[in-house]
Amino acid sequence: MRTTSKGGKMFIFTAPSGAGKTTIVRHLLKTYDFLDFSVSATTREMRDHEIDGKDYYFLTPEEFRARVDNDEFIEWEEVYEDQYYGTLKSEVDRVWETGKHIVFDIEVKGATNIKDLYGDKCHAIFIKPPSLEILIERLTSRQTESDASLKKRIARVREEMTYKDSFDAILVNDLLQVALKEAEFMVETFVFGKPFDEEE
Ligand code: 5GP
Repeated sequence: MRTTSKGGKMFIFTAPSGAGKTTIVRHLLKTYDFLDFSVSATTREMRDHEIDGKDYYFLTPEEFRARVDNDEFIEWEEVYEDQYYGTLKSEVDRVWETGKHIVFDIEVKGATNIKDLYGDKCHAIFIKPPSLEILIERLTSRQTESDASLKKRIARVREEMTYKDSFDAILVNDLLQVALKEAEFMVETFVFGKPFDEEE
């Protein structure tokens, strides 16, 4: 596998919650060592398997607000009521200083804002679930949410789907193995101009 590249580009993976973007993002980060993850800041509670500083920077609402006031974010959103998420400027600097390309896993409004800021440096991919019913089923079965949180997430999905045509590409996540291959194709093409298997 080709692993060298001089970095400086961005990939945004965005989707309604539950469309499988985290699975796709994790796969790409494992596959290509020229990619690194943009760790977001959030005020939501840490889940059991999560690590502070790796999955998110977990901040109190006060800490988050202080950083907003200090103009430390590229973008931030109140994704769910009283749950804030945002991309720190220092995170983009951190990854680019290592010479890698950045991978974002963020919701649609933040994705639109980053795409507007970085333009052609940035490839923004909308991951589309095969259907709304399947999405709701996936969200329900992963059991990471309380009932109230699940309801909030489902309510948001319809609105998020309306953004699908605002991005550079749409990736349908029906069969995961196919979606992973398509995601690899998109990464290789944006980084190197063509996928590896077309190289002479
Ligand atoms: P979760 O709580 O499931 O980890 O994430 C909830 C939603 O917030 C997901 O759609 C996730 O991609 C999004 N998100 C994570 N980090 C950021 C961020 O830095 N900015 C924005 N706008 N959304 C984010």
